[in-house]
Amino acid sequence: MKLYNSLTRTKDEFFTHTPGRVEMYTCGPTVYHYAHIGNLRSYIMEDILEKYLRYSGYDVNRVMNITDVGHLTSDGDTGDDKMLKGAKREHKTVMEIAKFYTDAFFADCKKLNIAIPKTVVPATSYIGEFIRVIQVLLDKGYAYESGGNIYFDTSKLDKYYVFNDFDEEDLEVGVREGVEADGNKRNKTDFVLWFTKSKFEDQELKWESPWGVGYPGWHIECSCISLKNNGEYLDLHCGGIDNAFPHHTNEIAQSEAYLGHKWCSQWFHVHHLNTDGGKMSKSKGEFLTVSLLEQKGYDPMVYRFFCLQSHYRRSLVFSYPNLDNAATAYSKLVAKVAALLGAQGTPDEEACNQLRSDFRAAMDNDLNTSLAITAVYNLFKSDADSATKLAMIKEFDSVLSLNLIEAAKKLSQQGSGYDEELPQEVTELLEKRKAARKEKNFALADELRDKIAELGYTVEETRQGTIVRKKD
Ligand code: AMP
Ligand code: ZN
Repeated sequence: MKLYNSLTRTKDEFFTHTPGRVEMYTCGPTVYHYAHIGNLRSYIMEDILEKYLRYSGYDVNRVMNITDVGHLTSDGDTGDDKMLKGAKREHKTVMEIAKFYTDAFFADCKKLNIAIPKTVVPATSYIGEFIRVIQVLLDKGYAYESGGNIYFDTSKLDKYYVFNDFDEEDLEVGVREGVEADGNKRNKTDFVLWFTKSKFEDQELKWESPWGVGYPGWHIECSCISLKNNGEYLDLHCGGIDNAFPHHTNEIAQSEAYLGHKWCSQWFHVHHLNTDGGKMSKSKGEFLTVSLLEQKGYDPMVYRFFCLQSHYRRSLVFSYPNLDNAATAYSKLVAKVAALLGAQGTPDEEACNQLRSDFRAAMDNDLNTSLAITAVYNLFKSDADSATKLAMIKEFDSVLSLNLIEAAKKLSQQGSGYDEELPQEVTELLEKRKAARKEKNFALADELRDKIAELGYTVEETRQGTIVRKKD
């Protein structure tokens, strides 16, 4: 399999330190709010990557952290503490916020068929480990104490600027807009490993350490959690593209300084989901969550399908018309699968291999999920028999996780949407409701649903579209 590696900036043949086994690490969410669908794009693509590696025969050990301490709004050492901000917003404790949004994240993952890694570690459960690694960095001369905090000394490295596309000038502390200079730093790129002299006097979570009561910086958590659970040689590290610098650059600095050898060989970065207005945000404009999409009548599988239709290394623009197109395409695909459901007989091995090779060629080419979906469409056009096609759909969907079989079964049980037997009046109201939903006039759509109910029919939005049934 060829995979783009942000470290070499080329598509390389994927390899592992131990044959047949992938040590994989994913930067987990900062649990101060719901995940937006942009965050979830990253997790969907990482999920596909893990599933495809398994499909290709690898044993995958995947580890993820939950950031419940240390992440500041700048991604560096400046700005507000994200968890504290969340807690204040909701008049709750940091741990209450962390628990609530960790559960919410897992619930979103479930809806989107994102498998949760076997090992998930909240940062606050590893404080002792952070202290131990920071002490080693101090002992080895890679870290120093200044003004009460512990900093990583980037001048001790032969090479620091990995993943850094910025000009050195831009990084000048105090030069970047809104970034206050930290006079304790010896070098402008040094970063905090442990905050003791906190600028957040109201910091709720603090721990004893050899350097005084304080809390860890954000970057150290991923290095420590991975080193402990993946071992000294990491094959694959994933995250959204915004994590590349400074977060991943700093992870490499710490981990390699600690280990004394190269650490992670391959880096997978998912590009952003943007809105028409630009960067997706939890504070600006409509806060796009999976629940919001559901409220608007979209099945989470439609969002997954929407993500798979484009390549992870291109930024993707979210809009409702684009999602509507994905919804239509998904329904059609499910209907095609439904037509195969009754197929009898054993799959033809030769035909299976042919279909499989198209799918694999797409996925082996830097995880080209949109071409993999084309391979699924081509399967329907092929002259293979229905049993073969059905077997292949099952197999491909073990990677794509689009619930194709389940949705097709539901569709064939329910019949396809509304049928001719509906009274004219109901059909007209349904058409009006469809138009209202298209225009995002949900108030009117709800009103029309009530009118339809008065005529004795229920309307339900499902993954294969609108289903109308006569009330019992
Ligand atoms: P956070 O919860 O902020 O730590 O981010 C969780 C994950 O989402 C990280 O891997 C980020 O890099 C990623 N991410 C943040 N914004 C976006 C976006 N707009 N599109 C895709 N991934 C994103
Ligand atoms: Zn991380």
